[in-house]
Amino acid sequence: MKAYIQRNLPAYIQLIKTLTAIPAPSHKEQQKAEYIRQWMAALAARTGFPLNIFIDDATNVVCECFADPDPAQVTLFLAHTDTVFPDEQPIEVLEDDRVIAAPGVGDDTTNVAAMMMGIQYLAEQQLRPQQNVVFVFNSCEEGLGNLKGCRAVMERYGGKVCEFISFDGGYSKLVDTAVGSERFRICIKTEGGHSFSSFGNRNAIAVMAELIHRLYQIDAGAYPGRTTYNVGIIEGGTSVNTIAQQAEMLFEYRSDRKQSLQGIQAECAAIFQEFSEKYDMTTELLGSRPSMGEVDPKAMDQLINEVSLITQQVTGIWPKRESSSTDCNIPLSLGIPATCIGAYAGKGAHTREEYVLKDSLPAGLEILIRILLRKF
Ligand SMILES: [Zn+2]
Repeated sequence: MKAYIQRNLPAYIQLIKTLTAIPAPSHKEQQKAEYIRQWMAALAARTGFPLNIFIDDATNVVCECFADPDPAQVTLFLAHTDTVFPDEQPIEVLEDDRVIAAPGVGDDTTNVAAMMMGIQYLAEQQLRPQQNVVFVFNSCEEGLGNLKGCRAVMERYGGKVCEFISFDGGYSKLVDTAVGSERFRICIKTEGGHSFSSFGNRNAIAVMAELIHRLYQIDAGAYPGRTTYNVGIIEGGTSVNTIAQQAEMLFEYRSDRKQSLQGIQAECAAIFQEFSEKYDMTTELLGSRPSMGEVDPKAMDQLINEVSLITQQVTGIWPKRESSSTDCNIPLSLGIPATCIGAYAGKGAHTREEYVLKDSLPAGLEILIRILLRKF
């Protein structure tokens, strides 16, 4: 395996650069998906590796690799193709001795490339699945993608999914708890008017400020687990001498406990209700991610421990466990053991200064291959 990784390192780095250069904002992953589909099809044709490859309605590249013709249980391996950047022009990728740098290079393009190189290893070794596996290069993991790709895959395989591993982020930590969230666009409209002659008319910005003040009096710390809320963007008004006629904000809350998420949801809904009775206010739900459901703790611990042990054997470091909002939210909310770990070390995810350390790539790919080998 180490020889395969060393021999293929230049090709792996080139693949990371090629994929990173293809823009793929959430909901616009078609071009990257098509590249991956062709690459996987060529691999299957060249090696005879048993893959059934297609792009589904959610722009996921699905590669089924079954041990049984009609599987009762399947394991899913995912890596998401979308990035947080809106760019639709080719992304410039920089490389020096130490790093590959570009927006989206790590999250999640390196993991996409690593899963492709990992599958190539299985294929070239002429390995065959011992269990039923589906590799998915999925769409819409980020932000307002709202986990569309993952939801579509989970729907396709329904109750058959017995284990779920998403390659996302770096290898220093893994996700064992789903942070659920709800995101809203809230719009308030008032009659407004001239700041002097119509003084006394209701001002949409002032009403929005009052709403925000009320939301920020919620005692998130009183809920079990970790619960948070945030106003991310606020806009509105016309000019300095106009009583604002409209104001808009983006608001979200999150929790790593199902009950706490329901609690803060009810508190916010009551405040929204109160304001929409008094004012012209619309509340649009932009996204909803479920939090942790009832996952068998033994099965979950076993998965986390196996993945952690592999990581430690390769890197010498036991990965940290953390709560996060990822594709794992969907299986975890359904009670399916799931985790998320990555194949690189780097910095600056979700910023334009993002980079991946080239030194970390061989170890990361080895971790990924060893995780795949549990099924081959
Ligand atoms: Zn990601």
